[in-house]
Amino acid sequence: MNTYNNGLSNGNKDHQAAVSFLTQPVTALVGIGSKSSEGLSRLKINTVKDIIFSFPYRYEVISLDTYDNERKILAGSYEGSSLIKTRKGKSIFKAVFKGNNGYFFCLWLNYNHTYPSSILHQGSYYYMYGSVTQYDGVMAIFHPEIINKNDLGSVRPIYSLPSGLSMSVYRKALKIAINKGLKQIRETLPNYLLDKYKYPNIQDAVYTLHYPETIQNVTSIMNRTHTAYERFIYEELFYMQIVIQLNRKTYNNIKGIKYDIDKDYLLQINEVMPFKLTAAQRKSLIEIFNDMANVKQMNRLVQGDVGSGKTIIAFIAAAVAAHNGYQVIIIAPTEVLAEQHYINAEKFFRNLNIKVDLLTGSVTKKNKEIIKEKLSSGLINIIIGTHALIEDNVEFQKLGLIITDEQHRFGVHQRKSLIDKGHTPDILLMTATPIPRTLAMTLYGDLDVSIIDELPPGRIPCITKAYKSKNINKAYEIVNDELNKKRKAYFIYPLIDESDKLELKAATQSYEEVKKYFHNKNVGLLHGKMKAEEKRQLLNDFKNGNMDILVSTTVVEVGVDVPEATVILIENAERFGLSQLHQLRGRVGRNNMQSYCLLITSDNISSYSKERIQAMLDYTDGFKLAEADLKLRGQGDFFGTKQSGVPNLYFADIIRDIKIIKNVKYDVENIIVEDEELILEKNMVIKERLMSMYNNSTSYFGIG
Ligand code: ADP
Ligand code: MG
Repeated sequence: MNTYNNGLSNGNKDHQAAVSFLTQPVTALVGIGSKSSEGLSRLKINTVKDIIFSFPYRYEVISLDTYDNERKILAGSYEGSSLIKTRKGKSIFKAVFKGNNGYFFCLWLNYNHTYPSSILHQGSYYYMYGSVTQYDGVMAIFHPEIINKNDLGSVRPIYSLPSGLSMSVYRKALKIAINKGLKQIRETLPNYLLDKYKYPNIQDAVYTLHYPETIQNVTSIMNRTHTAYERFIYEELFYMQIVIQLNRKTYNNIKGIKYDIDKDYLLQINEVMPFKLTAAQRKSLIEIFNDMANVKQMNRLVQGDVGSGKTIIAFIAAAVAAHNGYQVIIIAPTEVLAEQHYINAEKFFRNLNIKVDLLTGSVTKKNKEIIKEKLSSGLINIIIGTHALIEDNVEFQKLGLIITDEQHRFGVHQRKSLIDKGHTPDILLMTATPIPRTLAMTLYGDLDVSIIDELPPGRIPCITKAYKSKNINKAYEIVNDELNKKRKAYFIYPLIDESDKLELKAATQSYEEVKKYFHNKNVGLLHGKMKAEEKRQLLNDFKNGNMDILVSTTVVEVGVDVPEATVILIENAERFGLSQLHQLRGRVGRNNMQSYCLLITSDNISSYSKERIQAMLDYTDGFKLAEADLKLRGQGDFFGTKQSGVPNLYFADIIRDIKIIKNVKYDVENIIVEDEELILEKNMVIKERLMSMYNNSTSYFGIG
């Protein structure tokens, strides 16, 4: 559930009272005791206002029609009752009704002498509501709710609640909260924008989402096309966008580091380069150098498909920073990848006389202290590690550049905390997530983007094939052919053990099967639950030793580089998203040998899965694949949004709501042009909202 913080500023006395009602704990509402409030607190619902802003996830319609409810109404006249003894010696109160389609039962387990007998009158007509089951071959409802005739056709909201809190109690509490608190909720969007899109004001919108009243409203809310819902989509995107654009403005004014890009030094780097850069790599580097040479802080995103060679770009930029006397952080999303970078970096930087070290979760406490000490005294130039690194309050002597590889994106706060520490390092982000450019500019409007749209020379497109699992032997033959040429193979499985109900083939079990089939080969098993040291050893055996096949879960998904591997076999391929499949396929084809990606699917898969597999067969280019993905999917988890660090959105879906995103972007740009300090009366509401979102400190955005 989502909870909003509305801009509640001090007002007159009435307003003060109202404010205090909204900010009161949920226990201020009848029916919500301390037990329930603990449960609600786990759902991040703490105050009356939180309750008001926690919307139903669906609705039920109390209707005689077959509306798509879990629960239904059975209607009929009451004929009489009897008690049934259960085998355990308890009694059940069984009431018999005669409806249009025959008899039905209503059953109560814990009845008492007044309920339900005293409220049921023989011959009267009743509407009984609940989950319909069978009892003695007859339709029946246990513990039905008796519906008043006047309430037929009414709509009720359904909320996700902690166990122990009943829906009816919660609904009553909410009703009180709404009755007393709704009128005190302050608008969060300027009127001129509400008018422009004919969006309801916040109070009406909140009310409609809780109480849509008509089936038409329910349908359009669930379709996300109702203006009451759309207004919240718009609002969510609006504040995301305005922060991005204000940030951009701020960053443009932050004094960063002005690096000297020394030509002679670049020649020196050139000497130790293992290969020649591609034109696209060179272009990105030039863009990076231009940023570094400029006093303005660099905020650049390098987008390049898997295997396009982003690592070397990061290393060269790091070398230049180190040569200027600054320290560099390189952050990788996984320990596996951090260690791989470290191994490559050691080779690369050794010849440049630059000191590199590795800081991950599995570094011993003692070594961590030593490394920290060296960092603060400036003895280490480049530190490579996982994200924990920057959270672990490491002090730097002279931090100048932060490079984040894959996945992670600096939030406003992390950047701010570095700036507060007196550092204004340049920031370079690397991603393989091929978000179409327009979308990238919208989501990363505060970043400059470089694109590596070319693979190293001589790369041969990967051959992708799909097999039903009953034909897996055909795939094995291809693997065998490759292994006989002294190449290596990845076997990927979605899960690590069979505890999952879906009974997916598990890596551990399959490992035994693979060993049996390829009995004259060396097979290793890698999974997420192994210790870092074991993982390191295994990957090393696979990369440099005599291991032929690496059976693995998706630990290898991001970034692992073993050029001799030419074939990747993916089991239960239909279980993976397109972005994951593409990342996995990127593990092969990393030199100039023909590579193969073999997708094994269950014998029966959905048409959506079929289309995804087909897209993998049709496209090897990540950008094309992302576009295909866009077309395939309505909503849900967008291609790579998880990796790209798109913030959690509650209302909005960046694919479904692309039109609203465009509107938002246009509106925000105009606002910034016209009133970048947000001082115009009509924009006060925006400023207030930002203040409350950022704890009254918007100075960071250069406003207030
Ligand atoms: P990614 O962009 O996926 O991070 P990497 O940086 O891991 O890709 O590079 C993929 C592979 O291609 C590595 O083995 C790397 O050494 C190699 N490589 C990168 N750039 C070039 C180049 N210009 N010429 C030849 N090989 C290259
Ligand atoms: Mg990489």
